[in-house]
Amino acid sequence: MQHFPIFVALAGRRVVLSGGGEAACAKLRLLLKTEAHLTVFAPDPAPDIAAWAAEGRLRLLRRAMEPGDTTCAALFYAADEDVAEDARTSAIARADGALINIVDNLGDSQFITPAIVDRDPVTVAIGTEGAAPVLARSIKADLEERLPTRLGLLARVGKRFRCMAAALPAGRKRRDFWADYYYEAGPRAVEGVETGDAEARAQGALNDLLARHLSEDEAPGHVFFVGAGPGDPELLTLKARKLLDTADVVIHDRLIAPEILDLARREARMISAGKEGFGPSVAQSEINDLILQHVKAGAQVVRLKSGDPGVFGRLDEEIEAVSAAGQPYTVVPGITAAASAVAGIGQSLTQRARNASVRLLTGHDMKGFADHDWTALAKPGEVAAIYMGKKAARFIQGRLMMHGADPATPVTVVENASRADQRVIATSLSGLAAELTAAQLSGPALLLYGLAPRAAAEVIPELPRQEVL
Ligand code: SAH
Repeated sequence: MQHFPIFVALAGRRVVLSGGGEAACAKLRLLLKTEAHLTVFAPDPAPDIAAWAAEGRLRLLRRAMEPGDTTCAALFYAADEDVAEDARTSAIARADGALINIVDNLGDSQFITPAIVDRDPVTVAIGTEGAAPVLARSIKADLEERLPTRLGLLARVGKRFRCMAAALPAGRKRRDFWADYYYEAGPRAVEGVETGDAEARAQGALNDLLARHLSEDEAPGHVFFVGAGPGDPELLTLKARKLLDTADVVIHDRLIAPEILDLARREARMISAGKEGFGPSVAQSEINDLILQHVKAGAQVVRLKSGDPGVFGRLDEEIEAVSAAGQPYTVVPGITAAASAVAGIGQSLTQRARNASVRLLTGHDMKGFADHDWTALAKPGEVAAIYMGKKAARFIQGRLMMHGADPATPVTVVENASRADQRVIATSLSGLAAELTAAQLSGPALLLYGLAPRAAAEVIPELPRQEVL
């Protein structure tokens, strides 16, 4: 980010602009929305500028800007649309300590003016660092359409009510109250109402809501065991997305992609429970305690697990702890790594005439490398999705071959399934261990035993991020 967005307090401060043409008018139209004292230098001003001056909305000096003209100015706009003149005026303003913007000269400007969606006091500023003004305009148009025109009025009335709302305890209760006002009761109260009456209606809605929220008991805490899917944020369920939006606390595994964590409510407390394969991990009992501590304090706790919480996610241990403490919980399923990995190679987990069942296996369990029914797995046509199998690959390979599996059985390793850095290694049982060592995978990887990437050339280009090694 080369430009950091801020909102500058301009009420009562000096803003100076040099220029009298189109560019000057465009900037002034925005600046006139503020409570700044505007001074414009223009020997030959456009009629609009002269009219604003006549209305007393800005001070117009019909001459070129000179040293001393920008004393105490907070902002300066060089809008003469003339490279030499803009350089001259901006040098004067810079010497006077004003922040300068030169129209259509990003490189020499100290700040830029964003595209603005104005629902005063709600203001949305959109910037693209000069990269894509067209995009900024289309985002603006989109927001203009989506944000209720009365939002500003609701916010103004809401602002005056803030001290009244302090009667509600800070935290979720107060947040629920405001959400109710802005999204439900407020818009309902002012819909189709004449401007003059709308403020009173909004005020009435606030009074009623406050009385109702004050009389309601504190909502109890709740634990949501939520599947975050394999990594691509677009593979989150809508439920997961909504819960992240409203969570008070998010306790997440280390595997969860940062793009997904970014979706959590900004005020939510993010706690990494750091469980990961063989790596250093937080003890399960500590995670249980953490969940309980927050849910007992009345928080909406999202326990975010990679993939599906019910697949190698130690879900039961956490559910038992939560229910033993008498706390309510809900499980929200997610897309498990196996589902995502087969999608990544254009295959399915089961197929008529090939395999009528599929196994989800773990490469290691609490005792070390996990043992399985190798004899059954070694039969032709079997398919297994092996989780946490990177380190155990040599062991699995050895056991299966020992039990008579065909060394040519296809095995596909999918690393970082669904993520931008997804990698696919297509090998066979006999080549598995060596190929895995050679590939030096650093991300989570799933072994698909008995499946090769779909060979059909026409499928591969359709699969995003497909890289067959
Ligand atoms: N509950 C998770 C699995 C947790 S166990 C799920 O349903 O997917 C962790 C293992 O899952 C990793 O060792 C890896 O084998 C697998 N895994 C998780 N995310 C993955 C991804 N994006 N790509 C490949 N494998 C993944």
